[in-house]
Amino acid sequence: MSPLRILILAFLFYLLFRLLTGGKKKVKKTGNSGPPSHDVLVEDPICKVCVPMKQAVVLKEDGKTIYFCSPECREKFIAIKGD
Ligand SMILES: [Zn+2]
Repeated sequence: MSPLRILILAFLFYLLFRLLTGGKKKVKKTGNSGPPSHDVLVEDPICKVCVPMKQAVVLKEDGKTIYFCSPECREKFIAIKGD
């Protein structure tokens, strides 16, 4: 098979895929296709609670990312750092 044929076939498959999926406007947000890093648990340095990264409150400091369980814990952390 020539590379051009493969390209044309790929394009046809793409068009078919667009036709099949274009009619339905459902966007699946669940499933395991997302980045695995979102399921990683991160530890809150203030209350030592582990929270999923996607639910964590983020603070970026000195190029590092620090994760908290809540904005309150982040505020505490900032207050401690500030003193
Ligand atoms: Zn916390």
